[in-house]
Amino acid sequence: MFNGWLNSSFIQGVIYIITIAKPLFGEKEFENIKAVLNSGMLTQGKFVEDFEREFAHYIGVKFAVATNSGTSALHTALAALGIKSGDEIITTDFSFVASATCMLMQRAKPIFCDIDPKTYNISPELIEDKISDQTTAILPVHLYGQSCDMTKIMKIAKEYGLFVIEDACQAHGAEYNEKKVGSIGDIGVFSFYPTKNMTTGEGGILTTNNEIIAEKARMFRNQGQSKIYFHDSLGYNYRMTNIAAAIGLPQLERLDAGNTKRRENARYLTKELQKIKGIVTPYVAPDANHIFHQYTIRIEKDFSLSRSQLIDTLKEKGIGFGIHYPRPIHKQPLFEHLGYTNEIVNCPVSLEMSEKVLSLPVHPGVTQTDLEYIVNVIKTRRTS
Ligand SMILES: *Cc1c(COP(=O)(O)O)cnc(C)c1O
Repeated sequence: MFNGWLNSSFIQGVIYIITIAKPLFGEKEFENIKAVLNSGMLTQGKFVEDFEREFAHYIGVKFAVATNSGTSALHTALAALGIKSGDEIITTDFSFVASATCMLMQRAKPIFCDIDPKTYNISPELIEDKISDQTTAILPVHLYGQSCDMTKIMKIAKEYGLFVIEDACQAHGAEYNEKKVGSIGDIGVFSFYPTKNMTTGEGGILTTNNEIIAEKARMFRNQGQSKIYFHDSLGYNYRMTNIAAAIGLPQLERLDAGNTKRRENARYLTKELQKIKGIVTPYVAPDANHIFHQYTIRIEKDFSLSRSQLIDTLKEKGIGFGIHYPRPIHKQPLFEHLGYTNEIVNCPVSLEMSEKVLSLPVHPGVTQTDLEYIVNVIKTRRTS
């Protein structure tokens, strides 16, 4: 049923299964979907409007524009900022591919920056070296649910006159110095894919305090239309449906509770796993309120198993896992074909981490019994 993320641990004979992600639904989602179907208004309507207002309020911004995916929200964000052919945008080399492909959609050029080995987020110290006359924006990604060092990033952006687009697709509710991520840069972007901390099925949203940006984004998502059958500019059909927003509203209400449970689960895993030689548990920055979209450990050489041996053990024991990400973005064939080589990109930390990271189940559906089971399996380190 959950093919995308119920990985190969779902083999016959395994009765104990802890998935790496699991969307949780309550009565309200079912009621809302029924209300949408009864209304007959399935496309962008009242539920989308309500969802945008509630989400903007939650993040602490004036405007939110909902779309049909996180990727379309990223594309819309760049278009609304006027990103165009020839522009260079600096982003992390260590993220989901959409953080960079959105730039290609606007014919702009991604410039990859290496990461901090502690947080796995873009290293602010390395950004300035990547700035050229063509640079127009920085796109930091709050990876695994932990905010980037936004003080340093905003300072560089201000100094060089660059836009900041926060890819907060993994960081719904995460904070930096008590401000929600997505409210710090010019635009924040979120995804509601079912593995994320809240879902609408497929869906996305962008957040901003700038009315002109919000207006441009609304037009771009709806065929570049300013009034009915009057199209000012190139746009797409990136609209969110009322059904998606109807699911999103109660999901948003439950987000904080889910994030609290994720943090508790992460605290227990760290308490136990940090005792094991060769395992590096997630670093939590003091100014960031990590919401643990992923609980990602690092397997070092002095651990008793290689990463792939540990993965075999997890599979055998019915424990879901993820590798986020097995390839840095610049190593994706798409980018290799565009001429991005290791030498040009120069992101050795990102390359190294792609070979060492391993995400374990941390979502709110993971119970204390599950956690103890996971810890026990890793502690006893039995190979299959
Ligand atoms: C999930 C994700 C996206 C894309 O979101 P979709 O809704 O799948 O299009 C973009 N960036 C990051 C960092 C993500 O995790």
